[in-house]
Amino acid sequence: MQIAANKAVSIDYTLTNDGGEVIDSSAGGAPLVYLHGAGNIIPGLERSLEGKQAGDELDVAIEPEDAYGEYSPELVATLNRSMFEGVDELEVGMQFHASGPDGGMQIVTVRDIDGDDVTVDGNHPLAGQRLNFKVKVVNVRDASSEEVAHGHVHGEGGHQH
Ligand SMILES: [Zn+2]
Repeated sequence: MQIAANKAVSIDYTLTNDGGEVIDSSAGGAPLVYLHGAGNIIPGLERSLEGKQAGDELDVAIEPEDAYGEYSPELVATLNRSMFEGVDELEVGMQFHASGPDGGMQIVTVRDIDGDDVTVDGNHPLAGQRLNFKVKVVNVRDASSEEVAHGHVHGEGGHQH
């Protein structure tokens, strides 16, 4: 069975950056299960998997525009420490949910603290990076109509509800 829209796909994968550092991997755990064509995974990887079948292996390099986007300096802001009222110990690397310019929620990461100036960055941690995926397709099956309606896969490796 070939990978196409509305198939539930299981993959083993290893993600490395251009320096060869492993960022994420399914090795040692269960394969990643996703609903193809529903935007569950980054666009570049989804496109590369189109038409593949169980047993196929691929090595793909995905540019930022097809992954987590280019790094945008406009998403970096310096805020006063008073904005973080209620946070006991503010530290570089902490992440917070904040409402973005479009009203949606985004995750911001504290990049720097200088006195009362706190610099936060709303870019995805992998923004601006080329991602190298080594992928093996483990299984392809038809998604149920319920899974298609929900836009995600149920059961093992998927949503449990
Ligand atoms: Zn569901």
